[in-house]
Amino acid sequence: MRVLGIEGTAWCASAALYDSETDSVVIESDAYQPESGGIHPREAAEHMRQAIPSVVGTVLDEADGDIDADERGSSSRQAAPVDAVAFSRGPGLGPCLRIVGSAARALAQTLDVPLVGVNHMVAHLEIGRHRSGFSAPVCLNASGANAHILAYRNGRYRVLGETMDTGVGNALDKFTRHVGWSHPGGPKVESHAKEGEYTDLPYVVKGMDFSFSGIMSAAKQAVDDGEPVENVCRGLEENVFAMLTEVAERALSLTGRDELVLGGGVGQNDRLRGMLAEMCDQRGADFYAPEPRFLRDNAGMIAVLGAKMAEAGDTLAVEESGIDSNFRPDEVPVTWRTPESP
Ligand code: ATP
Repeated sequence: MRVLGIEGTAWCASAALYDSETDSVVIESDAYQPESGGIHPREAAEHMRQAIPSVVGTVLDEADGDIDADERGSSSRQAAPVDAVAFSRGPGLGPCLRIVGSAARALAQTLDVPLVGVNHMVAHLEIGRHRSGFSAPVCLNASGANAHILAYRNGRYRVLGETMDTGVGNALDKFTRHVGWSHPGGPKVESHAKEGEYTDLPYVVKGMDFSFSGIMSAAKQAVDDGEPVENVCRGLEENVFAMLTEVAERALSLTGRDELVLGGGVGQNDRLRGMLAEMCDQRGADFYAPEPRFLRDNAGMIAVLGAKMAEAGDTLAVEESGIDSNFRPDEVPVTWRTPESP
């Protein structure tokens, strides 16, 4: 099966072609770069409006080129270049999601193929499960607008722990905006932290949940009070990633699972991956982090999960395909796994 995936929840206008027979993924992305400050929803939506036709066009040209000439010749009408169209249905910024949803609906109707609505957070974790081959991992989603620890049980991914306030990447981005660095801030925190000495900042884990707004405010204050920014970046990384690692370890321990996968753009950070790998190593668990192109927002993960859903018959009627900007991962019935799989 060949699936066109379209992603556009916030900053990344992306299209992908996934071929489930060869397990190959082609991704074409165009990132929105704010001129100043953080992501502005109206500007991001304008970016989607401009960029989606071009990334989709590139990927469809690729799909079209793959169609065998005989296939075309033997068919009374032209074969569709893909077997389904999958799109990021939420969570995300409403104005962006509406553009991507409209594009996906129009394409599915024009090509006369099924439409699949994919939960962006479930896609972030399923790409890790798919590429690792793990059967029942605990999943840490460390992305811009979110932070969740999830595990599958009885037909759904259950949220075992999550942020009580801001997303983990957004906390880093808000700090870097305060010190005058351009968006996105996470990579800049990573490079400056390498030059810094650890400075103490709040560490907030409550049971299985974490909070990032206090540490972000304290980091801003520390810089205002004269602490070198490199030291604050180091303190931010050590504390924020230790919080995520602590909860991931508790989730492994409480569920008795021995596999961990990482998802989300913050997962591109070497220090976070190192902490998680070391924790897993110490408890004899397996750890998998996908390559960066599958960690940050991308349509590859939408196309891969879209193919699994389409194969399971989990498709949407156009009139019921509205977007959901607050679409939680635990709202999604997992149709693409056997009921008995853990
Ligand atoms: P979500 O997936 O929850 O909708 P999102 O759309 O903002 O969030 P992602 O692409 O998953 O997107 O992640 C983007 C975030 O990743 C940004 O906050 C960015 O600062 C952060 N990030 C990117 N690279 C790094 C890095 N090397 N270290 C830390 N954070 C990083």
